[in-house]
Amino acid sequence: MIIGILAIQGSVIEHKKILDNIGIRNIYVKDFDSIKKVDGIIIPGGESTTITKILRKKKLDEYIKENELPTFGTCAGAIVMSKEIIGMNQYCMGLIDMKIQRNAYGRQRESFETEIDIKGIGKFWGVFIRAPIIREVGKGVEVLSTHENNPVLVRQKYHLAATFHPELTDDARIHKLFIEMIR
Ligand code: GLN
Repeated sequence: MIIGILAIQGSVIEHKKILDNIGIRNIYVKDFDSIKKVDGIIIPGGESTTITKILRKKKLDEYIKENELPTFGTCAGAIVMSKEIIGMNQYCMGLIDMKIQRNAYGRQRESFETEIDIKGIGKFWGVFIRAPIIREVGKGVEVLSTHENNPVLVRQKYHLAATFHPELTDDARIHKLFIEMIR
């Protein structure tokens, strides 16, 4: 199995470190040639507008959808995977049936860390950086964790999205979950 890490911008190296630590083969995905080699792809945190722009320009979004490539998005990655970005006319891929609001925690709490509880995993350290809030999920979406009643880790079919940054901890359990989902 090879996992691709979308290497446009953001926490790319951090995802690589986690996959390396658990011995999962991984490559950076920047174009069509590289995406063809992977069994699943990670969309890192960063700036969703920048990530979206390049993703579309290179038609990688179409490849992911057409090939039903399992996708794991963190923070900005989760935004890119959503079905609707509330209050903004911003393109998103609709991989997970959810409505999301960008930068939704407000200025004073832009970034914070807190312990969350994840179904099947247990306690996990959640690092939230200018995080979005998932405001609505469809019936087919499984909520694996919430914070203040809002979903922060969700799964639909073979897609997984976190509004926080598991790649900024050294805890690989959510990455392992994604690997299991692909298998
Ligand atoms: N605020 C960013 C956005 O809206 C996401 C931040 C992040 O990925 N840490 O795209």
